[in-house]
Amino acid sequence: MSAPNTVQNDLESEYEALLSFMYLSPVGIVRSNKSGFVDMMNPLAAQLLMPLVKGGNIQNIFDSLASVAPELRNLVASFKAERGPVCENHRVFVTPAKDDAVVLSCSIIKVSADVLMMVLTDISRQVAAERRARQTESWLAGIYTSVNDFAVFTLDAQGCIDSWNPSVERLTGFDEAEVIGRMLSRFYADDEIVLHRLPEHIALTRDEGWHVEEFWCETKAGRRYWGQVLVAVLREEEGNVSGYSVVLRDITERKVHGDNLARLLTTDHLTGVTNRAHFFEIAESEVARAERHGRALSLVMLDADHFKRINDTAGHQAGDEVLKRIADEAKALLRMSDIVARLGGEEFVLLLPSTTAGEAMVVAERLRVAVERAFIETAAGQLNATISLGVASLGDAIPTLQDLLAAADRALYDAKQAGRNCVRGGIVESEGVAFSASEEGKTART
Ligand code: GH3
Ligand code: MG
Ligand code: MG
Repeated sequence: MSAPNTVQNDLESEYEALLSFMYLSPVGIVRSNKSGFVDMMNPLAAQLLMPLVKGGNIQNIFDSLASVAPELRNLVASFKAERGPVCENHRVFVTPAKDDAVVLSCSIIKVSADVLMMVLTDISRQVAAERRARQTESWLAGIYTSVNDFAVFTLDAQGCIDSWNPSVERLTGFDEAEVIGRMLSRFYADDEIVLHRLPEHIALTRDEGWHVEEFWCETKAGRRYWGQVLVAVLREEEGNVSGYSVVLRDITERKVHGDNLARLLTTDHLTGVTNRAHFFEIAESEVARAERHGRALSLVMLDADHFKRINDTAGHQAGDEVLKRIADEAKALLRMSDIVARLGGEEFVLLLPSTTAGEAMVVAERLRVAVERAFIETAAGQLNATISLGVASLGDAIPTLQDLLAAADRALYDAKQAGRNCVRGGIVESEGVAFSASEEGKTART
């Protein structure tokens, strides 16, 4: 007698265990016969299926799901084996596929000839996340393929290009095989491949998370463009940078526009040389730099001779032509680091870094000769003009820009007093350079 009791107790406790499992289960569980008539369902399943039955009871699971998953009934009907999985993670869209759609994942297991177990899971959030990911993906794809003024790609931890997409070819002209494994400098114009700048760029990115630089770049076909390169740390694993993302943009138009604006603000409209305001801006820093490095710095001040007479006889326009020619002769004579500026009227200055007084005297004399020899074409015919020049150099007696300008101005006054068309000032005996005015005040001798 005790044996059947024990069996009954075992069955009861098993059944209770099953019930509590179903009750507490984090997934919805429905048991039905093969036609879909439900004989057991846990609370979560009831909750998940609620939107479909609107207060009514769920008697037949296939009827309840008919509006959203009519295929389930057929799936089961066509499953011929006695037991086994009928479907796995089949997606059921309970509400329309909008942003907050309710989506269930449905698995059906045939456990015997006439018993089905259905497991339902709410995967709404997962589906929403997938949709967002797909959206992002299509946005990126749109950027990659349709926007042609920038390229998006990635670098590995060593800074080598490790991904390619159509945006890269569109902007740079290089195909995948031509860029993968190469350094970022692949895209730079030849004259911009300054090797030390790339590691520096990557190091700054590492320190700051992202970094932007601008370079002259060149397409495969040889078109130069001003490229803005943004490099950002892509991802980190245990504190290590494992890659970088790069956005390379063609900002040539913006640069040209910006440069034009800068040019307008810094150059003299008549002669194209540096204007007065900008000269004082940069001259101060040149003086500071010369002092810091203990380098020479010289200044030549020059003024057109009898300019009033040129204006009066040939006209103001011809006078303008003379001023332009003086500026052109100065520009032609000077180095890249030298500065030519128009201080006003018919007065110019040359600022000559790393140039001693003696060297500046030579430069000034060359310019004097060049202007004297120039045949200047004007509306009033061919003209000749001369200039007078005063030279001064930074030193113990002349420590500031103001002193430098004043000394050059005094030297210029001396030149005018000496009869014009000559160079004065800047004589430094220790350099072994001596200038002496000849009868006409024109000859320089070193
Ligand atoms: P000096 O040899 O002593 O320098 O005599 P100068 O006639 O050159 O000197 P002055 O300062 O008496 O005259 C300068 C003239 O330059 C007066 C002014 O009308 C003219 N001038 C100033 N700016 C311009 C300009 O932009 N264009 C023209 N054409 N003339 C200018
Ligand atoms: Mg003058
Ligand atoms: Mg003058």
